[in-house]
Amino acid sequence: MDRIPWNQYFMAQAVLLSLRSTCTRLEVGATLVRDKRIIAGGYNGSVSGDVHCIDEDCYVVDGHCLRTIHAEMNALLQCAKFGIPTDGSEIYVTHFPCLACTKAILQAGVKTIHYLHDYHNNEYAISLIKQVGANVHQVKLDEKYFSKLQLGEALTENL
Ligand SMILES: [Zn+2]
Ligand SMILES: [Zn+2]
Repeated sequence: MDRIPWNQYFMAQAVLLSLRSTCTRLEVGATLVRDKRIIAGGYNGSVSGDVHCIDEDCYVVDGHCLRTIHAEMNALLQCAKFGIPTDGSEIYVTHFPCLACTKAILQAGVKTIHYLHDYHNNEYAISLIKQVGANVHQVKLDEKYFSKLQLGEALTENL
C-alpha cells in the first residue's frame, strides 16, 4: 500500500496548525520533528494573554505586525517552555521562514528546514543555512494522499 511520505505527513500538520493563526496577515504553521516524532507545533499568534489580531486588527508598524509571534518561534518557544531539546530536529513550515526565524531555527540546532510555499525567500537566510551546514528543502503535497480526508479547501488549496 502506498503510504503518505513522512515529509508530506509532517507538512500537513503544519498546514493544520496554520488554521489556528490569529494574525490574518499570513496564516503560518510550523511543526518541529525529531526522530520522526512531532515534538512541538506553532502558528502565528499573539503573546498568550494579549488580544488577538483577528479581534483588534493587526498592530502594524513599517509593514510588520508587531503583535505577532511567528509560528516557527512559537514552536521553538514551546520547547523552551517545556524543556524539550531541539538539537538535531527538523522543522516543517508552511512558508519560507523570515530571517529572524531562520536565525533562531539554526541557533536552536534545527538541521533541516522544510517549507511549502516560497515567501520572500531571504538571500541571507539561504546563505546562512548553507554556511552552518543545515539544509533547506521544499515539500510538495500530493493530492492523492489527502483526497480521502475530505478536509475541504484547508488542505487542498495547499496542494
Ligand atoms: Zn497581526
Ligand atoms: Zn518569522
